[in-house]
Amino acid sequence: MAEAVEWQADGTPFSPRFGDIYRSEAGGLEQARHVFLQGCEMPAAWCGLPQWCILETGFGLGLNFLATWQAWLADPQRPRMLHVASIEAWPATAQDLLRSAAPYPELMPLAEQLARQWHGLLPGFHRLVFEGGQLLLTLCVGDVKPMLRELRFDVDAVFLDGFAPQHNPAMWDIHTLKSVARLCRRGTRLATWTSAGEVKQALRECGFVVKRAEGLPPKRHRLVGVFDPAWALKKREPVVPAARAGRCIVVGGGLAGAAVAGSLARRGWSVEVLDAADQPACGASGLPAGLLAPQVSPDDNLLSRLSRCGIRMSLQQADALLTPGVDWQANGVLEHRIDGTAGLPALWPDAGRDWTRAATPEELAEAGLPAEAVALWHTRAGWIKPAYLVRAWLAQPGVSWRGGVQVSGLKQEGALVKAVDAAGRQLAEADLVVIAAGPASAAVAAHAGELPLQAIRGQVSWAVLARPEQAMPAFPVNGHGSLIPAVPSLQGQLWLAGASFERGSTDTRSRASDHLDNLQRLRALLPKTAAQLTPAFDAGGVQAWAGVRCASPDRLPLVGQASPVATPGVWVCTAMGSRGLSFAALCGELLAARLHHEPLPLERRHAAAIDTTRYLRKDA
Ligand SMILES: Cc1cc2nc3c(=O)[nH]c(=O)nc-3n(C[C@H](O)[C@H](O)[C@H](O)COP(=O)(O)OP(=O)(O)OC[C@H]3O[C@@H](n4cnc5c(N)ncnc54)[C@H](O)[C@@H]3O)c2cc1C
Repeated sequence: MAEAVEWQADGTPFSPRFGDIYRSEAGGLEQARHVFLQGCEMPAAWCGLPQWCILETGFGLGLNFLATWQAWLADPQRPRMLHVASIEAWPATAQDLLRSAAPYPELMPLAEQLARQWHGLLPGFHRLVFEGGQLLLTLCVGDVKPMLRELRFDVDAVFLDGFAPQHNPAMWDIHTLKSVARLCRRGTRLATWTSAGEVKQALRECGFVVKRAEGLPPKRHRLVGVFDPAWALKKREPVVPAARAGRCIVVGGGLAGAAVAGSLARRGWSVEVLDAADQPACGASGLPAGLLAPQVSPDDNLLSRLSRCGIRMSLQQADALLTPGVDWQANGVLEHRIDGTAGLPALWPDAGRDWTRAATPEELAEAGLPAEAVALWHTRAGWIKPAYLVRAWLAQPGVSWRGGVQVSGLKQEGALVKAVDAAGRQLAEADLVVIAAGPASAAVAAHAGELPLQAIRGQVSWAVLARPEQAMPAFPVNGHGSLIPAVPSLQGQLWLAGASFERGSTDTRSRASDHLDNLQRLRALLPKTAAQLTPAFDAGGVQAWAGVRCASPDRLPLVGQASPVATPGVWVCTAMGSRGLSFAALCGELLAARLHHEPLPLERRHAAAIDTTRYLRKDA
């Protein structure tokens, strides 16, 4: 259940859980502006800076966020990127967020955008994207202390907000405040509505210079502070200083490279994408259409969490950049659990059902499956034509494309990295190079470090839908291979079934044996559809598309520096495996966030699990 908010007769929202009001009687917007924005000297403090990062300890009903968003929009000298990382253990409903903003008509258009992205808020991090990707909200759903441990970024301003210390003491104790201080730099500003003596004292012990300021009636005082400890600050990770937007070369113009290019260009980088092929998306990302559906597991494991996080971000990108019904469609995917296992955790909260629930009898019937079949319905899932997403990312301002360029190696020379061809001739140079060349990434990175990558050949079988009345489900189905029943193309509606899987092979020629494998899988997945399509397979009326996936030994992406010491300017973004559509947008944003010391789009330990360093030799 989402958090219950009680609305008092005068419109004040009240939390039965904490026995406290969400905001002062004077009104939320005034409090947001007076206590938090003014308290952190915003907007003056961010004026002319490239980015500004805010940490908020209690998202509540989101008024601080909305007020900050509005102030940022109104400021002609606003930073290019605004980040808010906000912690909330008990997210309210989207309806309550809207009701809270309703008294402030100027905030309503923003609140409506927020409400549209307010779904599926399971414990963990969620990245919400606004203003073309230049305003990013990282919502950290969980208790304040564990969430603070998962954050790693350079905080410019702290909004210390939450229910009153007597109602929610854990929010304000010295351990919480120490964790806040750990994220601050000298000069980080802090503001809070409380002036409680214990909070003031604890902040001082943590290195903040704090003073009382005039409060918003009926409160007499509030606290404002600056992080400026009397002691020397310990050097902390990450040791790489935050990057300033400069010039970047991306090697590889598939989903991974194009996503990185888009993420860096949004932050002001000038990005040149070099690719051996003449056109973008000629590698695995040339797949005619691919599926996007979350992975589920009874223990909601790392892959399940990463897949949801990535899918949220891919869908945001598709929504912003592509044409629905033509380039993509996310009307849901049915997962047929052919082994009969339930797949989902036993205790699957409502927020989880926003993503995935048991399929209904109607959905089973629609797929031609018997009523006793075990199946899940993924609500936020669908198909995308990867090449369209690649081209949309490459078309963003700041990104340029150079095809027909085979990069053979990279050389770090001082602060610059040079890309060279097989004869050692320089092809391009930049402050940063990101290798996103699929299975070829290992060879391109060879001078920098060793990447343990594996090539995995795959083939999909496809054809133009012969008769619209053919027994096709109305939605894609996965679970043992997959079927996408209707993808619009110039030739008509296409169906695609796949895909085969052969480790170690880079052969992209079509194979009859792979067609047979795909048909075999389809028979287990969707027997009725397979029976209808068998004549087309038998008559040779089915086309093939084959490509080569790139995977790491643990099947998770590789994002990070190729060799932090030898080639600090060389980064890697690859090993998307069979899930490039789920992972590319997430990995592009993660790489950019790490470079700029922004809030990461996922928990620190999850980012570590896909970092290149997990495979770097100890002496590298
Ligand atoms: C049959 C099949 C079905 C799939 N189905 C799905 C699906 O349903 N859903 C899903 O999410 N994913 C699916 N995938 C996986 C998905 O296609 C990949 O994860 C994704 O496309 C990988 O993108 P990439 O950018 O890492 O690699 P690629 O798209 O392969 O891009 C690498 C690029 O690097 C370039 N390059 C290589 N070497 C050099 C060099 N030396 N110099 C310059 N450029 C170079 C190549 O030309 C290429 O353009 C499928 C893959 C296959 C093969």
